[in-house]
Amino acid sequence: MPTETSLHELSAWRAAEMLRMGEISALELTRALLDRIAELEPKIHAYLTVTADTALAEAKHADALLAQARRDGADIAPLLGVPMTVKDVISTEGTVTTAGSRILEGFVPVYSATVIERLHAAGAHLLGKTNPDEFAMGSSTENSGYGVTYNPWDLTRVPGGSSGGSAAAMTADQGVFALGTDTGGSVRQPASFTNTVGLRPSYGRVSRWGVIAFASSLDQVGPMTKDVRDAALILNLIAGRDARDSTTVDLAVPDFVAGLGDVGGASLPLHGLRVGVPREYFVEGMAAGVESTTRAAIAHLESLGATVREVSLPHTEYALPTYYILAPAEASANLARYDGVKYGLRANVPGDVWDVTRATRGRGFGPEVKRRIMLGTYALSAGYYDAYYVKAQKARTLIKRDFDRAFDEVDVLVSATSPTPPFRVGAMIDDPLQMYLADVLTLAQPLAGIPAITLPAGFSDGLPVGMQIMARAFDEAKMLRVAYVYEQTTGWHKRKPMLNGAPAHSS
Ligand code: GLN
Repeated sequence: MPTETSLHELSAWRAAEMLRMGEISALELTRALLDRIAELEPKIHAYLTVTADTALAEAKHADALLAQARRDGADIAPLLGVPMTVKDVISTEGTVTTAGSRILEGFVPVYSATVIERLHAAGAHLLGKTNPDEFAMGSSTENSGYGVTYNPWDLTRVPGGSSGGSAAAMTADQGVFALGTDTGGSVRQPASFTNTVGLRPSYGRVSRWGVIAFASSLDQVGPMTKDVRDAALILNLIAGRDARDSTTVDLAVPDFVAGLGDVGGASLPLHGLRVGVPREYFVEGMAAGVESTTRAAIAHLESLGATVREVSLPHTEYALPTYYILAPAEASANLARYDGVKYGLRANVPGDVWDVTRATRGRGFGPEVKRRIMLGTYALSAGYYDAYYVKAQKARTLIKRDFDRAFDEVDVLVSATSPTPPFRVGAMIDDPLQMYLADVLTLAQPLAGIPAITLPAGFSDGLPVGMQIMARAFDEAKMLRVAYVYEQTTGWHKRKPMLNGAPAHSS
């Protein structure tokens, strides 16, 4: 029986196992997490809402179901009694959902996203909603309308973004597993900034129903977890066709957990694997510690039996400008629904409906969101549409073809996840272009629709560095297997920030 201090450290698969065996109760697990949240939130601010009362009630209910199932020898839902941590851009019925925006202050959805429904059906219950950049636009969680989240590894630094709250909660053990959303890196970059695992599924693998839209052709929900097994487990539970999202693909979902295989005895567990290293991903301005950590991680894959070769993705340099045309264009259309009538905030000013809409948007949207709406409407306007939007769509096709060609030769591609370790709070907030560069390694995969995972790969000056593994569309299983072998033979994911007094350090 673990002590109270170790309960909050449990991964989802391990917690579920112990709950099934009756070694821990859902109530004590939920209580331990709520205590941890109460202790650390004043420093970290990962959560916008903690659903303590309902979480405790649902934990009690789960304990009753667990006891009964054990008595009857019945099947137990895979996550029964496990609490979940959810980015606040994913709708949760009855619980305030803001997308980090003042324009949705107090907005309570009347239904839950499909991913939430599926996790509920698997037995999980909500622990709370985490801080994002407003409408998931950003790379630091500083664009939230509700304050900054701090990186548990160094409280003067950002946790990345836009799923920074979920990432911080994972590394600080203020939750068991989390969901984030990734449009251009928002699951992967914060996971890499916090020594945790973040998986972006193939486009169409996971339903977007009930996920507050940023850029609909890019948005995907992904697991943010403490280890690779949890990423596989949670992906299994949320993936698959959803009749309410026509962009989900009707493909069988493999058993990703079973696909991780066994690392144990094999001396060369990656024998036969072809790893490609895209030369364009060692970008100018990459921090020396990130480059050396990435090269060491690649050498480790080679030592496990993989063959490693350099490949070229020649259109990589166009990913950033392409993304920053297409994502704002789609955002400008998606955000037109916030008019002061249908959801959340309404500025009560005299005048007609247009005056109310103008005032509501003026007050409710933050500066980055306004910037993107302006960029997007400009790119879509008559006269500029062909020059920007259509051109960007063509570039998107070229970027996708680069990956198609590369995957004819290799099984997975490997790179750094972020060109730098976590940066200081405030360092880039006044320089949007510099901030956009934080995602230079995570924009091309969403444009191409392919999956990618980041996992802990080491440290640079005591700060986490993540490695990114990419695979062909719908080949998450292969990517997860490589990640799992790397994780199990290195153990970087076991390092935790020191949060009580002493400064965080890697070794
Ligand atoms: N940082 C990128 C942006 O600001 C990606 C965000 C995301 O993936 N949601 O758009």
